[in-house]
This record gives sequence, C-alpha cells and structure tokens, in this order.
Amino acid sequence: MNEYDSDKMRDVLQASHGMELTETPEEADVLLLNTCSIREKAQEKVFSAVGRWRKIKNKRPDVIIGVGGCVASQEGAAIQKRAPYVDIVFGPQTLHRLPTLLDQARETKRLVVDISFPEIEKFDSLPEPRAEGPKAFVSIMEGCSKYCTFCVVPYTRGEEISRPLNDVISEISSLAKQGVREINLLGQNVNAYRGDIDEGEVADFSLLLHYVAAVDGIDRIRFTTSHPAEYTDDIIEAFAEIPKLVNHLHLPVQSGSNNILSKMKRGYTRAEYIDIMNKMKAVRPGISLSSDFIIGFPGETEEEFEDTLALIEEVGFDFSYSFIYSARPGTPAAELEDCISEETKKQRLDKLKKRLNEMTMVISKNMVDTVQTVLVEGISKKNPLQMTGRTENNRVVNFTAHPRLAGQFVDVMITEALPNSLRARLVESSVDKILKY
Ligand code: SAH
Repeated sequence: MNEYDSDKMRDVLQASHGMELTETPEEADVLLLNTCSIREKAQEKVFSAVGRWRKIKNKRPDVIIGVGGCVASQEGAAIQKRAPYVDIVFGPQTLHRLPTLLDQARETKRLVVDISFPEIEKFDSLPEPRAEGPKAFVSIMEGCSKYCTFCVVPYTRGEEISRPLNDVISEISSLAKQGVREINLLGQNVNAYRGDIDEGEVADFSLLLHYVAAVDGIDRIRFTTSHPAEYTDDIIEAFAEIPKLVNHLHLPVQSGSNNILSKMKRGYTRAEYIDIMNKMKAVRPGISLSSDFIIGFPGETEEEFEDTLALIEEVGFDFSYSFIYSARPGTPAAELEDCISEETKKQRLDKLKKRLNEMTMVISKNMVDTVQTVLVEGISKKNPLQMTGRTENNRVVNFTAHPRLAGQFVDVMITEALPNSLRARLVESSVDKILKY
C-alpha cells in the first residue's frame, strides 16, 4: 500500500511541477518520507530518517522536507516538535494535494499540515496511471472500519471507502493497453469493497473480480489484503469460476485462539477461519494459503499460543508473516495490561517462524520437477543472463531465457528450491508458443 502511495506522490509532482525521481537525496529539491505506523519499530525509524536530511537542508535551505503516511496522520503538527526542519506534513488521504502543499510551504516558509480524510477526492485527482512492467497495483478501496483492538489503521487511514466500479475498470483497461498482464487489487480489506455502479446500484468484491477478469489482456489477478470476517461464499465461488485468479490466498488470521480472536475483536472464530480455508482448498486443489500472525497479544497464555501453532498444522501455510504485538497509541488493546515478558514473546515468535519456514520450504521443494507458469518481469538482478518472474504462489523464479520474453507468461520446469527463490528452465513447448506468437 505504501509503495503504491509513494508512486502516486511521484506521479502528482511530476504532473504538476515536472519533477523527476532522483537516486540520491543530495540532489533533491523535495525530500519526502512516506511512513508506516502499523508497529512501533516502523514509527521509530521516521525521526532518524528525516534527521539525516537535516544536513542537506542546512546546506541548501530551499530544500523542502515532507513527511507523509500514517505517522504523519497520527502525529500531525507534533512532528515539528521533534523535527523542526520539516516543512510539510500530509496524510495517506491527502497525498494528491502535495502540489498545493508544496507551493504553500515554499511561499510561506512555514509548516503546512493537511492530514484530513477527504474520502474519494484523492482518486479523482490522481494522474492517469503509467505501467512500469507487466504487473500493476490498483487501489480499489481504502481505510478500515473493522476497529480490531490492536490496529491503528482506522485512525490513520480513515474508514472504508470504495472507488466506483467504472473508475477501477477503466484504470485496469488503460494499464492492460500499456502491457500490464497481472493486476494486484489493493485495499486494507478488499472484500469490504462496495463500489457504486449506477444510481443506487453497488458492486461487491466478487462482482468486481468478474469485471476485472473480463478486461482483455489481464490474465492474472491477485488481491491484497482480504479479511476473514467478510470472506463470503461468493468470493470462494469466484475462485471456482475465474481461472485468472491466482492459486494463492493471503488471509490474515492473527491468532488460532478463540479467546484472543475475541479480545482482538476480529469478528470470526478459529472454526470459521478453518472453514473458509477448507472451502478454498475444495474449489482450488493445491492452493497456496498464507497468513499474518500476531504473537504476544496482551494476556496471551502459553495454551493460547499453542492454539496458533495447532492452527498452522491444521491449515498448512505457505510463506507467511508473523509479528510481536506492538501497542499502538489510541487503540483499545494499548490499555490492556501486558504481562508477557519480552523473552517469552521472542521465544514464541521464533518457534512460530521456524515452523512456518519449514512449511514454506517443503512447498518449495515439492515444486521441484513441476511445471509452473511464470510472468516474466525482466532481467534478474543477480545474473544479467537470467530472467526473473513469479509463480502463482508468488515465488521468485530465475531461469535462462531471452530478454524479449519480458512481459509474457511462460511455462518453466522448476529445477531447484533455494531459501528465497527457485531455479528453473524454460519448457520447450512454451518457447515454441512464444516464437510463433
Ligand atoms: N487488514 C488486514 C491486514 C492489516 S495490517 C487484516 O486486518 O487482517 C498487516 C498486518 O500487520 C496485520 O495482519 C497484523 O498481523 C500486523 N499488525 C497490525 N497491527 C499490529 C500491531 N499492533 N502489532 C503487531 N502487528 C500488527
């Protein structure tokens, strides 16, 4: 989400002020830091990062420093107390106003703050998207209205708001015409999507998926992230009906304990989560399933942690993310007494990670000697003679092939599973197909 937002910041400033991205901060006229406040660690990095830019501003006082994203949204003008050299503070929903904020900051030479939530205005004022390679993110909704007790997102990004269906589809069509083959639909909870169609009519997420699948040129569809509480049967049916949907689902569970899930206010039980995953396995045999986990939520007992480990065994997960609970200011869980020692939290996290890594490696090894369809993204960074791409379950695959294949789907035979990537060779029939094409 933040990567997407950062790209949009570049796009608006390019359109308004003809600005170009530069590789080094020393060359920049404007320095922007896009921040994340999902966990404390991410938030702490903000001040050390802008602190480094202070020297640049000392040498060139005309340089404008801006802090955007969720830390900006949370701290507002208070950012200037710790970093008086900051000129602009803007939130995730006001990044499209950067051109005006920049002009104001230059003119007034004073701190300019806009961390409001003007809802859909942002999407309407962003320039036409430009494709950069065969994959693209498309934001379909923003914000979150779930108010999980640990999570800061509703306070920093605002409540759920969906883009109208036509806007989403025309953005995707435009990207497809520029050579994009894979779309990743983006939102805090994509399955809460409710986009206006026409007067009074609204499209839900499964209907949106059907519309996206009908766009010529788009052959692979992903989404990030969905929420178990609204993972309805019609979304599961969409996986049965739409082959373009990848054989992969990332569905954050957070915990395997009903007690913890209820304290988190997640809105589903362990059994309901398992039911969704079983239904997904039924409509998509061999599907890769992944998740997010929070360890050490206030009061989590050893037994409740064991419930999470047992859930992992029961569902079977591919590459997943796990975090130690981080108290976020203003969230209900931050008021709860946290009596678990740091050492216990770390031990639990290590245990969970170890098991998740083992499971991921087993899946990678089982992929060896199978044929996988890969969207070729470009030349491998590590070896210029090789091309790189991703499988449906998001594994990076490197293989020897002609650079001309960039932007196309090819079939490869997986030859070796490494910890962070796979090696493969092109399948002959796939090469024929491409040459004829
Ligand atoms: N909307 C999705 C994912 C949201 S954020 C959902 O609710 O399922 C991405 C991940 O960050 C979450 O899934 C969670 O695992 C983690 N996260 C969010 N708040 C956190 C906190 N306070 N401490 C630790 N991890 C957190």
